[in-house]
Amino acid sequence: MRLKHLEMALQRLNGFPHPRVALEQYQTPAPLAARLLYHALMKGDIEGKSVCDLGCGTGVLAIGAAFLGAAKVTGIEIDQSAVDTAEGNAALTGTAVKFIVADVRDAALPGLIGTCDTVIMNPPFGAQQEHADRPFIDLALKTASVTYGIFNAGSAQFIKTYTEGRAEISEKVGGVFPIKRTFSFHTKDQKGIEVEIIRLISNRYLKPKA
Ligand code: SAH
Repeated sequence: MRLKHLEMALQRLNGFPHPRVALEQYQTPAPLAARLLYHALMKGDIEGKSVCDLGCGTGVLAIGAAFLGAAKVTGIEIDQSAVDTAEGNAALTGTAVKFIVADVRDAALPGLIGTCDTVIMNPPFGAQQEHADRPFIDLALKTASVTYGIFNAGSAQFIKTYTEGRAEISEKVGGVFPIKRTFSFHTKDQKGIEVEIIRLISNRYLKPKA
């Protein structure tokens, strides 16, 4: 599937019916999601791979990975109503994704989901609850050899320090996350949040240095 077609397919998915601010439910816009996924595809991290989407929301990233030929896709999400929408989106697009309602902070989760080749995620940025992104990073590094995450621009230094000894940043790509203004007098306006897509390699999978 070409990048443009992926973007168009993701554009048609249903969004959060009642976005919950406390959970930072912002659906990744199709152009940004398609860019992350296509980049990961080119790196050899999607096609034929098992892919996990942590905090999958309405399933944009998970379903996109299935479109691009992932062998197995699992979406983890705390909110049942988001998973209902994600399941509807998977049915709508004829993609096979297994969704699990779970909290990424649940210590039993790594045992439950096992390992996968690649994690893709757009976790909460921690705007509502400080450090909300940390359990996502922790679980990702336990679960997969390669992780692609969308973070606030300028997060790379924090992530480098936070994952010290556990992972290495192999890439950082800038992007913009357009968020619709919610004020009634400004409904059509959009605010662009600068983000960065960070590719992490978990140390357990790095070759030991000679
Ligand atoms: N990945 C989706 C949604 C991004 S919004 C997308 O790209 O469109 C972040 C998502 O993380 C929300 O759906 C929110 O409900 C979920 N979330 C927040 N805290 C969580 C937790 N502790 N465990 C699992 N999911 C969580």
